[in-house]
Amino acid sequence: MKKSNKQRRAEIKDRRLARAVALEARLSATDARLLLAEGRLPGLEIVDKSKLERHQLAHCQELSDFYLDRPFICSDCGSNEMWTAKQQKWWYEVAQGCVYSRAVRCRACRQTRRLQREAASLHEGANLLREEVARLRALAAAAPNAAARATVDAALQSKWRSLRVVAIEVMGRWGGAEQVERLKAFVAGHPGGSNHRWWEREAADAARKALTRIESEKKK
Ligand SMILES: [Zn+2]
Repeated sequence: MKKSNKQRRAEIKDRRLARAVALEARLSATDARLLLAEGRLPGLEIVDKSKLERHQLAHCQELSDFYLDRPFICSDCGSNEMWTAKQQKWWYEVAQGCVYSRAVRCRACRQTRRLQREAASLHEGANLLREEVARLRALAAAAPNAAARATVDAALQSKWRSLRVVAIEVMGRWGGAEQVERLKAFVAGHPGGSNHRWWEREAADAARKALTRIESEKKK
């Protein structure tokens, strides 16, 4: 029967654990240098101290000469894991991880955490945008002063297309010769056509709509 990936991973884990235990026993009996003289030792990597010198604190701490496979328990799901010597060497010497940092989570839990963080930051972005839109819309209620104009100008340059559209709507609500001029200039600067991206067309449409609205209010 074909082994599942899960089975295979479990076997690798078991093998690594057995290897770590065996290596530990050999190291307690024999100097690592002697063992290394026989050839490469799986589960053991030599520390390149020159790569750790950037850590001021590393000088206060007695650095080991070797990285050894280090079993640990995932702090989130409790599974038995192995932080291999090779991974440690990479973490401290290539990724420049802090000398006091240790592997605490399994791969799956690290990934879950990363996705959760990403979702949280997206959520935060959406909240921020909602607040900005509300702040901008509120400006339409009163005649524009210098600060309100500056806010709308900034929103017109925003990376968020919905903010740009709301800024145009606010200009339309304000109305008056100044805003009509600006809206017309905006429409002229965005003539439409296929070589414009849809969000640019969307902004130009909003400006046209705002101008139409100002015209129809004038007629009332
Ligand atoms: Zn885990």
